[in-house]
Amino acid sequence: MDYLAILNKVLREVQPIIGSGKVADYIPALADADPTKFGMSITLNTGESYGVGDCYYPFSIQSISKVLSFTLALRHYRKDLYKRVWREPSGDPFNSLVQLEYEEGIPRNPFINAGAIVVCDSLLSKTPDLPTAFNELIAFVRQVSDDNSIDIDHIIANSEMEHGFRNSALANLMKSFGNIDNDVLSVLTYYFQQCSIKMTTQQLSRSFLYLANAGVDPISKIEILNEGQAKRVNSIMLTCGHYDASGDFAFRVGLPGKSGVGGGIVAVIPGKMAISVFSPGLNQNGNSVVGTKALELFTTYTGLSIF
Ligand code: GLN
Repeated sequence: MDYLAILNKVLREVQPIIGSGKVADYIPALADADPTKFGMSITLNTGESYGVGDCYYPFSIQSISKVLSFTLALRHYRKDLYKRVWREPSGDPFNSLVQLEYEEGIPRNPFINAGAIVVCDSLLSKTPDLPTAFNELIAFVRQVSDDNSIDIDHIIANSEMEHGFRNSALANLMKSFGNIDNDVLSVLTYYFQQCSIKMTTQQLSRSFLYLANAGVDPISKIEILNEGQAKRVNSIMLTCGHYDASGDFAFRVGLPGKSGVGGGIVAVIPGKMAISVFSPGLNQNGNSVVGTKALELFTTYTGLSIF
C-alpha cells in the first residue's frame, strides 16, 4: 500500500477544516497554541515511517502520557493495579468529580484524570522520591520512543501547577478516601510534569509501536508488556481513550486510541502500525476535531481497522 500517498490524500481532504474546534484554554501556556497546525505520522512495525504536514512540530502530549505511565505501573503492579483504578468507561468529562464521590475514590479508568493521578501515586510509591520517580518515567518514554531528546516543557508544567485547582480537588478527594498514599503535592507535580511531555507526531507514532506488536517493541525487540497486558491496554484505549466521546471515536475510526488536550491523538493498528495526528482545535469533549477526522479518513482509505 502507498501509505505516503494516502497520508497526502488525508491532508488534502482535511485542509478546509484545519483551524476548526477550540484550542484548550484552561492554562495560558496552551491557549497560545497555533490552531492552523496539522501533522500526521505513521510508523510501521517494520520500522518504516511516513509523515505529512507539521509532523516534526513538538507539542504537549497531555493525556496521551497517561498510557505510558499506566504501562509503567502495570509493569510494577500487574493486575493488583486494578484494585485502585477500574477499567470501565466513565461517560463523564475527563476532569469530573461527581462519579468519584459516590464511587468512594476509585476512578473508573486510568485515562480520566483521577485514574491517571492514582497511577502517578502508585509509581511514586515505588521510588524514594519525586525526582527519581519522574526520571524513571522519562527514561521509559525515551526508551519506547528510541529518542533521548524527549523532555518536558517547564512553562506548561508550571502553568498546569498554577491553575490545577480541579486536579487538586480530584487528588484531595481520593486522598480522603484513602486511595492516594503519597503527599498530594508530589503526586500532582508528577502528574503535571507527565502531561507536559513534548513530542512530535513522528516520535509519538514510534513510541506506541509496542502496543501494535503485542507488547514487544518490534524494532528494539524489547518486551515492554506481555501479550495479555498489551491487549488490555489497547482495550482500555478503545473503550476509554477519548473520555465521554470514546464511543464516537470507536464508531468513526475503529481503532484503540488516546487523545490529549494539546491536540494530539495516537491510535494503534495491532500487527501493523501506530498512527499519530496533531491539530490543536478541540471538540467539546477535549479531542482534536481535525485529528479525529484525519484518522477516520485514514482507516476508511486503507480499509485498516480492528473490525
Ligand atoms: N493536563 C490536562 C488536565 O489535567 C490533561 C487532560 C487531557 O489531556 N484531557 O486537565
